[in-house]
Amino acid sequence: MTVSQDKNKAPFIVVSGPSGSGKTTICRAVAKKLSLYYSISHTTRPKREKEIHGQDYFFTSQDIFKEMIQNKAFIEWAQVYENYYGTSKEIVDTKRAQGIGVIVDVDTQGALIIKKNMPDALLIFIKTPQASELRKRLLARGQDSKEEIEKRLQETKKELLMAKKYDHAVVNDDLNKAIETVMTIIKSYDNRKPITENRT
Ligand code: ADP
Ligand code: 5GP
Repeated sequence: MTVSQDKNKAPFIVVSGPSGSGKTTICRAVAKKLSLYYSISHTTRPKREKEIHGQDYFFTSQDIFKEMIQNKAFIEWAQVYENYYGTSKEIVDTKRAQGIGVIVDVDTQGALIIKKNMPDALLIFIKTPQASELRKRLLARGQDSKEEIEKRLQETKKELLMAKKYDHAVVNDDLNKAIETVMTIIKSYDNRKPITENRT
């Protein structure tokens, strides 16, 4: 089943959460099951070994990223863990104009910019049952250095405090259940109306 897709107002879903909470895994699964486009961000972060340019991210130099900021090419952008990340306006607008819903995985700064500028966007925050689970998952993922993992974990408390600003928070304990919960939330949201409930 796919979510309702009005040509002019295809759904726009924003997912955030601490590093290691499972955002990427959940977004990929949900995008596939609900025929949403999982937006590929631009970043100045160095590519991880298993990542592919144009599939995981558009890996971009600082100069090009800054030029894109000047050209207003991003819906939102932010500096996260010393690198820049941004969501391309062109990609999101094109997909939505084609009636294709878009799901983005952005940090809490980016999510709040979207919340302010796009009142119909649905914001979902992903958590783990205990914060200690994050370290375990990041180590198991085996893609970041110990220092990089510690840098990410240091941001966790601040990020968790932002969860209340989201429309929904989902605990990713059992992965399949979390995917189901996110899908249920998305299917029950009416993307043609601005979201006002619980919004401050
Ligand atoms: P994020 O995008 O939030 O940094 P990932 O989706 O990359 O997180 O997930 C981090 C790691 O945890 C990955 O190796 C992923 O396979 C694993 N993972 C995701 N969800 C769960 C879960 N519910 N239980 C155990 N491991 C999980
Ligand atoms: P990672 O380097 O682990 O892929 O992502 C680090 C952080 O950057 C995560 O919190 C992720 O949500 C965030 N991120 C990824 N893409 C974007 C983006 O386009 N904009 C913003 N603001 N954050 C992003």
